Amino acid sequence: MTIYQNLIAGEWVGSNATKNINPSDTNEVVGLYADGSADDTRNAIAAAKAAFPAWSRSGIWERHVILKKTGDEIMARKDELGALLAREEGKTLPEATGEVIRASQIFEFFAGEALRLAGEVIPSVRPNIGVEITREALGVIGIITPWNFPIAIPAWKIAPALCYGNTIVFKPAELVPACSWAIVDILNRAGLPKGVLNLVMGKGSVVGQAMLESPDVHGITFTGSTGTGRRVAAASIEHNRKFQLEMGGKNPMVVLDDADLNVAVEAAANSGFFSTGQRCTASSRLIVTEGIHDKFVAALTDKLKTLVVDNALKAGTHIGPVVDERQLKTDTDYIEIGKSEGAKLAFGGEVISRDTPGFYLQPTLFTEATNQMRISREEIFGPVVSVIRAKDYDEALAIANDTPFGLSAGIATTSLKHATHFKRNSEAGMVMVNLPTAGVDFHVPFGGRKGSSYGPREQGKYAAEFYTTVKTAYTLA
Ligand code: ADP
Repeated sequence: MTIYQNLIAGEWVGSNATKNINPSDTNEVVGLYADGSADDTRNAIAAAKAAFPAWSRSGIWERHVILKKTGDEIMARKDELGALLAREEGKTLPEATGEVIRASQIFEFFAGEALRLAGEVIPSVRPNIGVEITREALGVIGIITPWNFPIAIPAWKIAPALCYGNTIVFKPAELVPACSWAIVDILNRAGLPKGVLNLVMGKGSVVGQAMLESPDVHGITFTGSTGTGRRVAAASIEHNRKFQLEMGGKNPMVVLDDADLNVAVEAAANSGFFSTGQRCTASSRLIVTEGIHDKFVAALTDKLKTLVVDNALKAGTHIGPVVDERQLKTDTDYIEIGKSEGAKLAFGGEVISRDTPGFYLQPTLFTEATNQMRISREEIFGPVVSVIRAKDYDEALAIANDTPFGLSAGIATTSLKHATHFKRNSEAGMVMVNLPTAGVDFHVPFGGRKGSSYGPREQGKYAAEFYTTVKTAYTLA
């Protein structure tokens, strides 16, 4: 088998490799991917540092063309890349293809943004003096990504970093190197100068750690667990480095008595269980008022019975496997914790087998949960959802906000008053009315509050906040 290598200073390198395994069929090796070392990482950082002066002053048309070509190629290859994504991560083929399309759109968006770079010219308070306010590239950006969106998250970090003139050392998650390799290959062929984008696949404790320790990395953008996020923060403070963290959630969806039942059930099923519940914006707490509680639970349970859990590549599969054995163990451990805490297992809870050996788990619904239980407070990151009763809207809102996280929050209601109040009073970065808590477009700001996020928003024009630094320049006329 060929080894998909790391890209360092414009050269494909690396002979140590690890297997990328398909979670829908653990007999299948998706490919062999390079396992980078701390030295590889240091070389990549040096290459990015050397490439920075020229790239940060490159023309906006050059950046536009490279980003546009990349978006176009990703779109042209959406079916092939969608299948690759489904094979390495386990989300269903339609979900995976949708994610590939989103990655393409992100590159198209930032191809446009490259042509719209602008500053401000304002008068000084002193006569005959002008002030220019411009945005400049930050420098070498370290990009550390998780396994749950193998192409969209790399795209929404790489595209703005390049658009604003930064150079990159990119470390994808160990479990899903294939899509990352594919987009780096596309960008490289699209004409990026050597060293502008360096790919170092490998372990977080080796490659990621070497990135954290380098004084030559000027910004780190990280999406992953809270524990690793805190390490990124501590190391970055040490180096006086800018950093941005996305670390998950425990997202509530409030369902009020006046909700349209179908809308509420569809939104809850989608955001609780699609992508196997492995989205940081997944709804994992359904907070349901008394008058609709039993009807909602019955309808959601009926819906869950219709969802097919199977091989991600099979037509008709609604929910693919859990990403790996370790995550499956986390999920089943939390199911046991939920039972022992006194929540009622209303549906699912079993690991199941299919024609191909994989990590298949039934969608799992707990009822009679309280917001103090561990299953309601800790992020599980699987298809495990709890229903919490609330007596009215005010109590539901209080429960929704009573969490260490603050990424996304939803409400199902036909009341304008409650929808409006919830949008204003939710302590989450993103709020959805009558929609799943997951599913934020590619051109709008993405990010949360409290324990979910740190630093400026990602995506859309707000991405400039992280990937640039502002300069204020005076001229005496
Ligand atoms: P998960 O538990 O979901 O895998 P992690 O936070 O461990 O979440 O992983 C997210 C990303 O962080 C991955 O790319 C991983 O390799 C990387 N990572 C893990 N440990 C470290 C570390 N010590 N320093 C830098 N990056 C790390």
